[in-house]
Amino acid sequence: MISDELLAHVRATKGFMPEEEGLLLNRTALEQLVHGPALEVGTYAGKSAILLGAAAQEVGGTIFTVDHHRGSEENQAGWEHHDTELVDPELGLMDTLPFFRRAIARAGLEDQVVAVIGKSTTVSALWRTPLSLLFIDGGHSEVHAHNDYAGWAPWLINGGCLVIHDVFPEPADGGQAPYHVFRRAVDGGDFAEVETVGSMRVLRRSLGQAGDPVT
Ligand code: SAH
Ligand code: MG
Repeated sequence: MISDELLAHVRATKGFMPEEEGLLLNRTALEQLVHGPALEVGTYAGKSAILLGAAAQEVGGTIFTVDHHRGSEENQAGWEHHDTELVDPELGLMDTLPFFRRAIARAGLEDQVVAVIGKSTTVSALWRTPLSLLFIDGGHSEVHAHNDYAGWAPWLINGGCLVIHDVFPEPADGGQAPYHVFRRAVDGGDFAEVETVGSMRVLRRSLGQAGDPVT
């Protein structure tokens, strides 16, 4: 279980993760990390990375977290989830990397959490390491969400967990792309539903081998 101290770091970090949903992510990582590293798509300021890193500190293991750190569409100026504090004043672009680095250093998780800075598709195309857990919480447009699934899910080991955030079956509750990816995973037959808390869905890979394309 995550310590009160690390939970305080989670709470102090900017992000989009209701606590109950974050605790499910932490619990899932505790179970999975003994089987191999975990990877997160969508680092932002490190809130969910601390929840994953806390599990890695407890049971051993490594978390990779991929982000170009320039923000998703909804984080850009003029959009709903824009935060002016996160803009690089010289470039006029979002830059969440310094916030992430401070959050991970303060939490004492620099040995557990490894930042990979770049576009999800660029990194996934060259990735070669089987994963025990994949957490998809990156771009929420259809194209980005499906690219994340297509690029990363093949690296999940048999028995590995696919965790998808912001899954809203009802269009009135939120964007549909993560839900469509969830449907694709379940309807494709490779993944079975394990647990749901709020918009957080945990699935388990039940067929195929790491490295096989998931269609
Ligand atoms: N998991 C974080 C929130 C992530 S927000 C938390 O719980 O706090 C989504 C992040 O995905 C943003 O930081 C954005 O920069 C990143 N992102 C969006 N599209 C991306 C892409 N194509 N490649 C890499 N990162 C992307
Ligand atoms: Mg999210």
